Parts: sequence; structure tokens; C-alpha cells
Amino acid sequence: MDIKASDQVKETIGKRGLKIDDVMDVIKTAEGSNKKVVDKATGRVIAKKTINNVTVYADYNVEKGILKSHANVNSAYSHRMTIGKIVNATEPSPWTCAHCNAQAYAGTAEMSYMGVVRNGPAIVCPKCNDAWVEEYLATKTLAAAEGLFEKKKA
Ligand SMILES: [Zn+2]
Repeated sequence: MDIKASDQVKETIGKRGLKIDDVMDVIKTAEGSNKKVVDKATGRVIAKKTINNVTVYADYNVEKGILKSHANVNSAYSHRMTIGKIVNATEPSPWTCAHCNAQAYAGTAEMSYMGVVRNGPAIVCPKCNDAWVEEYLATKTLAAAEGLFEKKKA
């Protein structure tokens, strides 16, 4: 599979301290394992992989060509918190868990960082016991929480 990203997306990825190779790794792993959530209406995919204690996410669409498929990267982001078990699944989300083909839910999962466990909002698949954090939460809410925890420990 080829990976395509616009210059703007590449710039965002770089600014967030992520490497395009890691984003490719996330996509290739997700396409191989089918562990990802898909918005069936738009074909948008969110996948994650933990690389060096950081959970890296890729937001992309797959374009199927005659010979080769391409992944068009919409965005990439990360968080340092570790997602633990699912706390609840409150309402149906637009996402489908590709692994079990069940509806994914908007819910809550345990997130731990530097020894502190908090509950945070996530897209969850109770069947697979897996959870994904959306971009706006990872880049705003989780980044702020990680910063606070780091300050307290410093
Ligand atoms: Zn599932």
C-alpha cells in the first residue's frame, strides 16, 4: 500500500512531533490486522498503534486502485496516556469497528499517565474491548492533562 499525504498534512504531522514513517507503520499494521474504526458513510478510518510509549493515530481514507491501494492521510496525532479498560459505552457513534464489524460507541475509557488513572471520552468497541481517542480530544484535552501531570511531577 502507498501512503499519500498533502504538504499541509505532512507539516501538521511534523509540528506534532510525529514521523511520517510512524504514520505509515500505523496504517500498515491496521490494514493488516483490521483493527480500526471506519465511518462507512465516508470511508474514513481511524487507526492507532503504540510506538515507544506513544499512541500514534492515523486518520485516513483508502483508495482502491487496480493494482495497488493508496491510503490518503487526512491527519495524524498522538497521546502519551495509556488507554486501559472501557468504563462505559453511552451512545452509538458513526464509527464501525472493522475488526468485529459491530457498531462502535461514544463512551469512556480509563486513561493512565505517570501513575494517575482518569476516565476520558473515547470511541469504544465493547466487543473487542478496544478504544480510540478522536483528534480534537487527543490534541486538546489529553495534551492539556498530560501537561498538568508533568508539571505536578516536576
Ligand atoms: Zn470490535
